[in-house]
Amino acid sequence: MKKIVIIGGGIAGLSTGCYAQMNGYETHIFEMHNLPGGLCTAWKRKGYTFDVCIHWLEGTSPNSPFHKIWQELGAIQDKKIYYKDVSVRVISNGQIVNFYCDPDKLAKHLKEIAPEDSETIDELVYTIRKAYMLFNMPLTKAKELFSVIDKLKNIKSFIPFMKFFIKYARMNIDEFTAKFKNPVLKQAIQGLMADTEFTQFFGVPFMIATQGCGFPEGGSLNFAKSIEQRYIKLGGKIHYNSKIEKILVKILVTAISTFLLLNIYGMPSSGVAQN
Ligand SMILES: Cc1cc2nc3c(=O)[nH]c(=O)nc-3n(C[C@H](O)[C@H](O)[C@H](O)COP(=O)(O)OP(=O)(O)OC[C@H]3O[C@@H](n4cnc5c(N)ncnc54)[C@H](O)[C@@H]3O)c2cc1C
Repeated sequence: MKKIVIIGGGIAGLSTGCYAQMNGYETHIFEMHNLPGGLCTAWKRKGYTFDVCIHWLEGTSPNSPFHKIWQELGAIQDKKIYYKDVSVRVISNGQIVNFYCDPDKLAKHLKEIAPEDSETIDELVYTIRKAYMLFNMPLTKAKELFSVIDKLKNIKSFIPFMKFFIKYARMNIDEFTAKFKNPVLKQAIQGLMADTEFTQFFGVPFMIATQGCGFPEGGSLNFAKSIEQRYIKLGGKIHYNSKIEKILVKILVTAISTFLLLNIYGMPSSGVAQN
């Protein structure tokens, strides 16, 4: 059986371990901490739980292409998912601005604050919806496994979004908010993520929330532990308090030097080649 050693028991390492086990590999995860999860973690102090990671988990909605992946990893099926009504609340010039996850509700609220900016608000909501469609494109397989036909199909699926990309890809938040006349709205949006690219701005907080990204019951550490349990059930071995100090590349170097020697000096006798 082929073996894989995985460094780190964060979400990436645990997921890699699960899929490798599902595909018949014997795997070992070495994690330097005494817990799974890496950045996806939480801790308790003085009666409080500090959950620093998951705010919106992409793929909690069954409509999302990520949903199947979380299910395969045993991460969400037994958990209640909480969805937010308001993704972010900002107090700007003493006025509360709610960034609702529902684009229609968002548009209505923003127009109540700034009727003079109706056109820009419509543009904002239009781009949120467009970005939503873009993020919701099916994930068929990893990009590295794409055939030429897959690549062509992928390019074709991007065509409806080209205009959107050309217009917004290089725009940052400051440039977009310059369009707003209302100072409350301008300041509220800038305050969220100044200097951020506009398309990234859709990702967090609007777009992701709009797509049905929720918060799984139990929080970040519990989420990571569910994937750890799935990994162990699949037969994977996880070693905690095991920091990888060095990755040996000797075999690779030997292989490269042998290859170079063979090319420089020609094929040696069979005895030398085996050594
Ligand atoms: C404050 C915060 C909020 C976030 N909010 C969200 C959110 O709302 N939604 C979302 O989807 N994502 C969120 N993220 C991002 C998400 O947490 C990360 O993208 C994800 O957890 C990264 O996982 P990873 O496995 O790639 O890396 P990591 O979590 O960094 O895992 C790497 C692991 O490798 C281990 N390791 C490193 N070096 C060694 C070594 N030499 N030997 C052994 N072990 C080693 C580490 O201990 C760690 O456990 C947030 C991140 C942060 C910090």
